[in-house]
Amino acid sequence: MNLTRIKGFADVLPGDVEAWQRIERAAERVFASYNFKEIRIPVLEKSELFSRSLGESTDVIEKEMYTFADRDSKATLLSLRPEGTAGVVRAYGEGKLHQVEPVRKLYYLGPMFRRERPQKGRLRQFHQIGAEVFGRTDPYVDAELLLLLRDLWEDLEVTDTVLEVNSIGCAECRPGYRAALVAFLEERRAELCADCDRRLENNPLRVLDCKRPSCGGIVSAAPSILSHLCDDCRSHFDTVLELLRDLRPEPVVNPRLVRGLDYYCRTTFEWKAGAGLGSQNTVAAGGRYDGLVQSLGGPPVAGVGFALGVERLALLLSEGDTNESGAPLLYLAWMGEAAQRWTFALAHRLRRRGRRVDLEGEARSLKSQMRRADKQGASVVLIVGPDEMERGRALVRHMATKEQTEVDFADVEESLG
Ligand code: ATP
Ligand code: MG
Repeated sequence: MNLTRIKGFADVLPGDVEAWQRIERAAERVFASYNFKEIRIPVLEKSELFSRSLGESTDVIEKEMYTFADRDSKATLLSLRPEGTAGVVRAYGEGKLHQVEPVRKLYYLGPMFRRERPQKGRLRQFHQIGAEVFGRTDPYVDAELLLLLRDLWEDLEVTDTVLEVNSIGCAECRPGYRAALVAFLEERRAELCADCDRRLENNPLRVLDCKRPSCGGIVSAAPSILSHLCDDCRSHFDTVLELLRDLRPEPVVNPRLVRGLDYYCRTTFEWKAGAGLGSQNTVAAGGRYDGLVQSLGGPPVAGVGFALGVERLALLLSEGDTNESGAPLLYLAWMGEAAQRWTFALAHRLRRRGRRVDLEGEARSLKSQMRRADKQGASVVLIVGPDEMERGRALVRHMATKEQTEVDFADVEESLG
């Protein structure tokens, strides 16, 4: 076929999709237990929403967005959303959600688009499940989000994870840290990579985040943000750590952990997979963004949230766990037109009772129907041919034991439903 999918865009085929469904169901359950409500927002937004919320000097804005002019209004640039927070913040303000109740716990789920180099765990269309809490400045909610993620891992039986946390201060204390960091990096400027050389000018904290080993070596000796926190940020962070004292795995404080996006303050975190994902091993990331809502024209409410990568999480679910595909399959094998009509109608009645039922649409030998039933993992096959039609009794074959019984047409629904 000449028409193939585009680079970095993936199909999720049956066999793989079960892991996704398991993740989505688990997320719905866990979010509900923390009293989150779902929000659904568009995939396409005005580009300006993202450049204003993420900051012009981020990789996402500089080189990763899918942006185009709309046909009839060339002046307005549109972008496929590269992340969910900006759209949720816009919707929170635009839908005036704060007027009814300023504190909102929202979650979303859906595709995001970034034009990055595709590799394992990194696509151009990928999927996130994200949470945003508006209107709460207290450290309890930061801790609650991390407990929620832990509950999700537990539900999905994902073990072997590492949680890294940090505080990146606020508008009051970060400038002091930024100056100390710039002074430190200026002295080693010649050894930094070209990207970091640029970052030093417009977004120096992001040098801490550089994935190149040479830059990593330099920043390991850089001054720590934690010794620059103001009293309020310090006590906020201490309380978060205190509330997570019993969390397993124990959070690891990583003073070099900053977020690539400009709007974060105070608590930031990344939840990584211990093994199995290679270098793209961050499954969930998030933190606080207290000034964002207001800076996008909304009310002055605080925000805190996270986003997790569904593709990466799906890679962590073990095969055996994900192959379950719902209720056992009942297969109706038929021979002859009368039996076809009868099984067709029976299938409908059983499906309405919640059974998973399938049957052929064209005449096939009993042998080939049995083979198909087996291949699809049917637990029971009901067999109806001309003889059975005449006697008003069907054969019931249990696939695991190969045991065969007979059942009266009148009792079929009761005994199989
Ligand atoms: P990374 O450092 O891995 O590029 P990021 O900082 O760009 O991550 P965020 O914007 O915080 O990532 O997104 C949160 C999560 O979404 C990531 O931890 C990851 O699981 C997932 N994610 C981000 N970009 C991609 C992508 N291109 N393909 C698949 N998953 C992704
Ligand atoms: Mg990235």
